[in-house]
Amino acid sequence: MAKPTGFMEYDRELPPDRSPLERIKDWNEFHEHFSVEKLQTQGARCMDCGIPFCHTGMRLPENSPAASGCPINNLIPEWNDLVYRGLWKEALERLHKTNNFPEFTGRVCPAPCEGACVLDMIEPPVTIKNIEVSIIDKGWEEGWVVPEPPAKRTGKSVAVVGSGPAGLSCAAQLNRAGHLVTVYERADRIGGLLMYGIPNMKLDKKRVVQRRIDLMAAEGVTFITNTEIGKDISAKELVDKFDAVVLCGGATKPRDLPIEGRALKGIHFAVPFLHANTKSLLDSNHEDGNYISAKDKHVIVIGGGDTGTDCVGTSMRHGCESLTQFEILERPPDERAPNNPWPEYPRIYQLDYGQEEAAAKFGSDPRIYLINTMKFVGDDRGNVKELHTAEVEWVPGEGGRPFPKPIEGTEKVWPADLVLLAMGFLGPEDTILEELDVERDERSNVKAEEDEYTTSIPGVFAAGDMRRGQSLVVWAFKEGRGAAREADRYLMGTTDLP
Ligand SMILES: Cc1cc2nc3c(=O)[nH]c(=O)nc-3n(C[C@H](O)[C@H](O)[C@H](O)COP(=O)(O)OP(=O)(O)OC[C@H]3O[C@@H](n4cnc5c(N)ncnc54)[C@H](O)[C@@H]3O)c2cc1C
Ligand code: SF4
Repeated sequence: MAKPTGFMEYDRELPPDRSPLERIKDWNEFHEHFSVEKLQTQGARCMDCGIPFCHTGMRLPENSPAASGCPINNLIPEWNDLVYRGLWKEALERLHKTNNFPEFTGRVCPAPCEGACVLDMIEPPVTIKNIEVSIIDKGWEEGWVVPEPPAKRTGKSVAVVGSGPAGLSCAAQLNRAGHLVTVYERADRIGGLLMYGIPNMKLDKKRVVQRRIDLMAAEGVTFITNTEIGKDISAKELVDKFDAVVLCGGATKPRDLPIEGRALKGIHFAVPFLHANTKSLLDSNHEDGNYISAKDKHVIVIGGGDTGTDCVGTSMRHGCESLTQFEILERPPDERAPNNPWPEYPRIYQLDYGQEEAAAKFGSDPRIYLINTMKFVGDDRGNVKELHTAEVEWVPGEGGRPFPKPIEGTEKVWPADLVLLAMGFLGPEDTILEELDVERDERSNVKAEEDEYTTSIPGVFAAGDMRRGQSLVVWAFKEGRGAAREADRYLMGTTDLP
């Protein structure tokens, strides 16, 4: 184990982020790195406890979408110990056993592992996520991460539809097993929401995402961009041409707000806003102007989740005039509530990077809780100019399901000339699923049991948000790896993939 008394001797410490007012002037990543010595000290805090809940990835409460511990079962105490002892290359080997792309999770994962760390019962948890990213970043720096093409090929071919984290982890694993993998992506760049959802300041596209894609290509994975399955190539053609097909198209249908004034100009879904921003940044450093700018605008972001936060951070960098973020739920408590005990994922109030930046510039957290938008009002040229809202209380509705009831007398008008809708996603698109007549579940996702990933069509598998609904990068990795394992079993009759 790491140092037996480490957790008593050392406090949790993270490298400071770049200052909010400085970092909103550019699109570079905002996390800084720690020195090797500091990381060893942090690794020394790991207690190597008897049951390391951090790496269990259990569903708690049962059937909850939130995990307790790491969904991909990263061998956390092992690499904490190796880091403490300065054995970085060995730590990297342990990390790569369960995680194909730790440089992505180490940057964007909300770290359910830390909420399940046993130390968290008495002290702030081990800085697991920071140690993870430091191991892989050092691995790249030292030149330890190199293409590892399979020693022999099986002669089987697999098509993967969609190049987000599920498609990438699936392709990496299938290629490792020796199959010839072709990944089809309709966007002009590979990566799904890693490339065109999560913004550059959280996950650098050229330096981090593209580097891994280039490595996969060097290992023998074929990437085909600008090609939409179901439109440019029929899904049936893929099923006929390849020995197996894995659907990893994501859950891209956004939840809308169909209220009065929705058709006004200046009201946009979050992902097209974020996508265009990153594309223009990568294509021309924003010189082509092919993005929706928040510069000098009164911006209102509707939705308080990760996607909303990314809209906040992006608008701050454009130079918005003001920024407000609406959340229909109540503000989470500062400490775990009694119904959210350790080792569940802690549902507590946090200032994420975007809100921290807005607070630094405008003086306070931009989020307003328990508020609903009742209508949009426009000017005489059809541009949105204000939002009318009401505060809400959650009361039992039809069938006892809670619903947000507007509170009389709390109506308010907010000036707005850019509104970004970030209220979650409703499920996968229909094109391929209808063409192949794939069975769906009650939430319209592809029906395929967890850990089996087999759809109603033989030889067709599904993974990631397309199967489980909008989730997290780490879950997409777990699903992509699992679907690869099951596709390998289908193709070869047996499998060695984990
Ligand atoms: C803005 C935003 C920010 C997020 N931030 C975080 C975060 O910080 N941390 C975190 O853990 N999770 C985050 N998430 C969630 C996470 O990104 C997703 O859960 C994850 O990307 C799902 O992976 P996936 O591979 O299933 O799908 P996606 O990443 O959505 O990839 C699907 C890909 O399939 C392609 N595709 C779809 N249909 C076709 C077709 N017919 N033909 C060809 N290609 C097709 C799409 O273009 C897309 O590239 C965020 C989500 C959003 C929207
Ligand atoms: S992938 Fe996420 S949950 Fe797993 S160790 Fe890394 S930060 Fe923790």
